[in-house]
Formats: sequence, C-alpha cells, structure tokens
Amino acid sequence: MQDTPITTDVDYAAEGVQHGHLKLPYSHDDSAWGSIPIPITVVANGGGPTALLTGANHGDEYEGPTALSKLAASLAPAQVTGRVIIVPFMNYPAFRAGRRTSPIDAGNLNRVFPGRPDGGVTEKIADYFQRVLLPMSDFVLDVHSGGRTLEFVPFAAAHVLTDAAQQARCVAAMRAFAAPYSMMLLEIDASGLYDTAAEAMGKVFVSTELGGGGSTTPYTVEIAETGVHNFLVHAGIKAGELIARDSVSLDMPDADCYLACEDEGLLEMCVELGAWVQAGKLVARVHRTDRNGQAPAEYHAERSGLLAGRHFPGLIKPGDFLALIAVTSD
Ligand code: ZN
Repeated sequence: MQDTPITTDVDYAAEGVQHGHLKLPYSHDDSAWGSIPIPITVVANGGGPTALLTGANHGDEYEGPTALSKLAASLAPAQVTGRVIIVPFMNYPAFRAGRRTSPIDAGNLNRVFPGRPDGGVTEKIADYFQRVLLPMSDFVLDVHSGGRTLEFVPFAAAHVLTDAAQQARCVAAMRAFAAPYSMMLLEIDASGLYDTAAEAMGKVFVSTELGGGGSTTPYTVEIAETGVHNFLVHAGIKAGELIARDSVSLDMPDADCYLACEDEGLLEMCVELGAWVQAGKLVARVHRTDRNGQAPAEYHAERSGLLAGRHFPGLIKPGDFLALIAVTSD
C-alpha cells in the first residue's frame, strides 16, 4: 500500500513539547496545491508508554476538543513519563464546519476505518491514525459526546472483547476515567469504527459519550478534564493522583436497549435523561404536525433501566434513534 500522503512537522521521537500540524493534502477550487493543517501536540519525557488522545472524531462534539485544547496548552514534560499525543480536532474539516461529518466528502470518520491513503480526505485521516498513530500508542482515549442530534448521561465506555485480558485492561482504564456512568457498550454496527481499529491492535481503548446537543456545559467539560487526567495517571504517564468519583455501572445486554422512531413529528420526551423506567412505561410521544386532533404515537420501554440517551432535537423522523435504556450491572 502506498505511504500516507499526510506529513507532519512534529518529531514523534523528540523530547519536550511540540505544537505542530498534520498536513492533509487537499486540492480544490480555492487552493489548487492546498492542504488542511490539523493541530497536533506531542509531549514526551523519557521512556514509558504512549497515550493518544482525540476529540472531534465527530465534528459537532465539544467536550473532547475543549478538554484537549486546554491540556495541550498546559501539559509540561516534567509531568510526563513517556509520551502524550493530543489531536483535539480529529476530523478537522467536520469540526470547523460544526458538523458530524466532513463538508468536503461527507465522510463520517468513525465509520471509515481503516481508511485509505488514496481515498477522500476523511479516509486519509483514518489511514494516518490506522498506520502511523495507533501503532505507536499503548493507551487510546477518544472523547465523544452526543453532538447536535443526541444527548447522553455522561459516561465512559468499554466494549466486550474476545480477549478477556485486554477487555479487563480497557475496563480498568474506563473506571479510572471516573465519569458519572461507566458503560459496557453494545455497538449497533462496529465495522469501520476507530474503536474497533484500536482494539484489534490490542490497545487499551476507552471512548466516552459526555452530554450532547451540540454544545458543552461546565459539568460535562469538568468530567472530560478530570477523565483525561485520570486516564493519563492510570496509564502511568502523568504524575499525580486519581480524582475519584462515584460511577454507576451500566450495561447494554442486547438491541432491546435501543428505541427507534417509526413516526415523523414533534418529539415529547416523557422521561428525564438519567431517570429510571419500568418495562412498559411511556418514554415518549410523537405528535403529528400535518393535522390537529390526532392521537400521538407512543413509545414504551422494552426493558426496565435507566434512560441513558435520547434524541435531542424537537423534531424526529422514522429511523431516527429515539432513546437508549441501559441496565445497571452492579
Ligand atoms: Zn461521536
């Protein structure tokens, strides 16, 4: 396979702090020989493991970019044993546009792994992470949130893996992150995920869903900053103490955890995010907007559990994710 077309002005083998860019070639009408400069920071000091920290894998999720921008500006080599690679805005074109996907090629970065060196710009970013950054990393943290269309209770997540020892390492790192909730996550479709790429390489991988709605709150940014600190301390890379927080363990035993919408209209959530529901309880109504006087469609919980995620905008369509009901696992 051909080399990555992405070049960088940081030296991954150098000690100290470097703020540079990943230079992603992008020839277009306004810049024939142009490129997209994606900010990257490397902080290295002595021998030790490498942590790779990313935000804005989806461009409309802001806790990761906020926490990682602040970390990149403040982390000193003296605090580090090993190396920390920080990319706060992973899908940079999507982030700049405030969108989940890239405005250039419509690429959803978290669906195109392992990417292609000769593909679109989004596939080129994925390929760079797949073949350059992931192989040099031991601990990988990808900070997601709900974005404009989803809202979650703030959780860190790990997956069920075939390698039980690797899963235990991922779960330990998820618990160290100490989000208010810790989720064993069942993916609707795991193919093409950055998560799957990192896990297939045997990395200790943690992802998150912190809030949503296309913005942040002081509460969710604090969770991200504390979690990033804890993740690095747990990895043995950053000096300091773990900041403890009680975390509710959540599990998604099967696809019944997901409620999908079958109607178009005005969404009325009937359960607060984070509240408990019994199986059969009314979770949401969808009101018709094409005429008055009609009964709304009703959506009921298929299992008892905690409302861990919901559709965020006020309008909803058939096929949209409506709600996530997770169960406690301890
Ligand atoms: Zn995301």
